[in-house]
Amino acid sequence: MASIKHKLNSREPLFSFEFFPPKTEKGEAAMRESLRELVPLKPSFVSVTYGAGGSTREKTRRIVKSIQDEHCLDVVAHITCYGHTYDDIRRLLAEYREAGISNFLALRGDPPREEANWRLTDNGPQHAIELVKMCKEMGDVSVGVAAFPDKHPEAPDLQTDLKFLKEKVEAGADFVITQLFFDNDRYFHLVHHAREEGVSVPIIPGIMPITKVGQIEKFLELSACSIPKKLVAHLEEHGHDEQRVQEIGLAYCASQCVDLLRRGAPGIHFYTLNQSRACHTVYAALHAMGMWRR
Ligand SMILES: Cc1cc2nc3c(=O)[nH]c(=O)nc-3n(C[C@H](O)[C@H](O)[C@H](O)COP(=O)(O)OP(=O)(O)OC[C@H]3O[C@@H](n4cnc5c(N)ncnc54)[C@H](O)[C@@H]3O)c2cc1C
Repeated sequence: MASIKHKLNSREPLFSFEFFPPKTEKGEAAMRESLRELVPLKPSFVSVTYGAGGSTREKTRRIVKSIQDEHCLDVVAHITCYGHTYDDIRRLLAEYREAGISNFLALRGDPPREEANWRLTDNGPQHAIELVKMCKEMGDVSVGVAAFPDKHPEAPDLQTDLKFLKEKVEAGADFVITQLFFDNDRYFHLVHHAREEGVSVPIIPGIMPITKVGQIEKFLELSACSIPKKLVAHLEEHGHDEQRVQEIGLAYCASQCVDLLRRGAPGIHFYTLNQSRACHTVYAALHAMGMWRR
């Protein structure tokens, strides 16, 4: 399987899709169906999350391996610090190496839902940078890290956040994927200041189409991102009409992607929430039209 870092130099944009390990067999069947639909569209890679609190270690590993083997897609395995000792991480990375997985997204991780704050495990890593270093010690691997257009909720300001982003890149991160956002100017603001700080690796925007009005509150709470007031008002105005809300969400997402690509973003990372039909639709449309070409 290809190392993602070799794809980063391509002249064509990268398109990637993020899945999470489903809790039920039905959920897993739906995810597999989504993956089957994705294969002909040849995404650059798919990524699989690591459950909050490190709760899906085995499942994430099994799904990553099966996507690589059964669907022949390049896969990025998310790994997180939360709830793990250094030895746990070493074992996990050794298992991935054994399975032929060489692409990782190194993250601090979120605490489980029932815990309000992030908690450090004895003899365990505290920040994503430590995982970047541990991955890089394995040799020829590609490692991505996270960045936050609306700044990380715990960071005092964007500048502090960017100082740590730079350290992650200096430690060996090959690419960056952003938290989801709905205002492209936030993304370009982040990129501009990251470049000023000396971060030169690709910063891939993370995007998600809104398909239900109920998602708005959730996004604001989960990712601390802002949604343009006009978009919220438009969605709420049609909140009674599910089909219309989906159309608005898809149209907004497609125009957001076109603007990002035309203004030089290196690709799009779609947060699918395992409901990838909406993301497929946007991706297929962009792909068919080559809409990023200037
Ligand atoms: C693309 C993407 C995918 C994600 N996938 C998952 C997933 O699969 N599982 C999951 O649980 N969560 C996931 N998350 C959520 C992420 O783990 C959380 O948002 C987490 O709070 C921050 O992760 P990070 O890797 O940016 O952490 P870090 O880089 O460790 O940063 C966390 C905070 O600490 C500060 N900081 C960074 N380094 C240092 C340092 N050396 N010293 C002091 N302060 C520092 C930063 O400014 C920031 O405020 C994902 C997020 C993104 C954007």
